[in-house]
Amino acid sequence: MLTIIGGGLAGSEAAWQAAQRGIQVKLYEMRPEVETGAHTGSHLAELVCSNSLGSDLADRAPGVLKNELRRMGSLLLDCASRTAVPAGGALAVDRHEFARLVTTRIEEHPNIEIVRQEVTAIPQKPTIIASGPLTSSSLSRAIANLTGQDHLYFFDAISPIVTLESINMEVAYRASRYDRGEQEGGDYLNGPMTETEYSAFVEALLEAERIELKSFEKQLENGVKAGMHTFFEGCLPVEVIAQRGPNTLAFGPLRPVGLIDPRTGKRPHAVVQLRQDDLAGTLYNLVGFQTNLKFPEQRRVFRMIPGLEEAEFARYGQMHRNTFIFAPVLLRPTLQYRQRPDLFFAGQITGVEGYAGNIATGLLAGWNAARHLQGQEPIQLPKETMLGALCHYITHASAADFQPMKANFGLLPPLNGVGKGRRNKRRRMEMYAERAMRALDGFLHTV
Ligand SMILES: Cc1cc2nc3c(=O)[nH]c(=O)nc-3n(C[C@H](O)[C@H](O)[C@H](O)COP(=O)(O)OP(=O)(O)OC[C@H]3O[C@@H](n4cnc5c(N)ncnc54)[C@H](O)[C@@H]3O)c2cc1C
Repeated sequence: MLTIIGGGLAGSEAAWQAAQRGIQVKLYEMRPEVETGAHTGSHLAELVCSNSLGSDLADRAPGVLKNELRRMGSLLLDCASRTAVPAGGALAVDRHEFARLVTTRIEEHPNIEIVRQEVTAIPQKPTIIASGPLTSSSLSRAIANLTGQDHLYFFDAISPIVTLESINMEVAYRASRYDRGEQEGGDYLNGPMTETEYSAFVEALLEAERIELKSFEKQLENGVKAGMHTFFEGCLPVEVIAQRGPNTLAFGPLRPVGLIDPRTGKRPHAVVQLRQDDLAGTLYNLVGFQTNLKFPEQRRVFRMIPGLEEAEFARYGQMHRNTFIFAPVLLRPTLQYRQRPDLFFAGQITGVEGYAGNIATGLLAGWNAARHLQGQEPIQLPKETMLGALCHYITHASAADFQPMKANFGLLPPLNGVGKGRRNKRRRMEMYAERAMRALDGFLHTV
């Protein structure tokens, strides 16, 4: 018997995968008895915001993940394809039909029992925790007791991440403030701004459209104690700092002191710093740029930063309630809790972002929980696959700046035999995709 907590994207997929392998599953879902504040109905697998699961193009990172899910027999991808609405190269669904279909398929499975009840303690038997970013407060407390308070986060204030290859290095330059870095030439990439560029940037930032905050996030923004976490000054959105005065950013996160531009020999008026985000050095985050701007607005406004004119965003900045554990020390790439091999985590709570990533971790956790219950070793997917790379990232990310991550090519091991630079980008994406499918097919033949 397997207990699964949470009938969202990850929990529903996990239940299906385990049940298909002959395991009896009890799937606990607290809605409609207890609300999350974002879900509106009682169906399983409700999409809380956008109705798009992202790109479905075979040579895009989210598309690669979806093709892997299809090859591994994902229930939710199948339901998504059956309820798809036209969306260009993306996979978007009729959200009501999608959730209704997933609920029906799960309800009809002879090995799954759905229990409409909030779980408030972690069961001492084989369990998958898939309670999502809006995990109820009693369960959050139970998880914090298990992991230690320092290893459970309740709120996300994250800066955007761009790919290194999309940064124009003829404008951006490598330097650490006062040459204090470890790497030759400096640890940071720097986008230098003239006074005119800075003023135009601040103006655009202040006028840009923001995501409307939900009431619990408003509370956090006001610094009101909410649950176990309060919003603090160091996490203010960049646009809120800008609101405090025209020069606040130039004296704050964009201060140029100690960052002479080697091309002019002068100190710029302001500097946006980018810090390496992954071990491979392919991703860089914009330091101090946690933000609430809408995603298209982030693309428009942040591309005004010199050097980022054609930046590609591997992740956008966000501020929202988000319960997630510190996976680098707590989880194995099999999604097992290190201290308890019969306990698994899946979905957003692992630190994997996005609908498709949450479905994917649900698939792996369900499969591995079934293997564990059947006395087999849980599997670890190859790092060349998108799901394998995501699981590797969350369980090996640097402790200092671990943040939730969605599917992107920067997570995959580098390719041999194809040039760098923008000219070869298309070919590189195709090669990443082909290699991922080969790696997955080869692996699936062995299990
Ligand atoms: C407001 C918001 C908007 C988002 N928008 C997007 C977006 O547009 N695109 C995107 O790709 N990602 C988005 N995400 C991120 C993420 O992809 C989704 O939240 C996704 O649904 C997470 O999947 P999950 O299975 O981990 O959690 P969920 O789908 O939230 O499922 C968790 C389930 O567990 C239940 N639950 C919680 N606690 C308990 C308990 N104690 N006992 C029993 N049941 C419990 C909840 O009711 C819920 O049904 C958003 C997140 C948030 C918070």
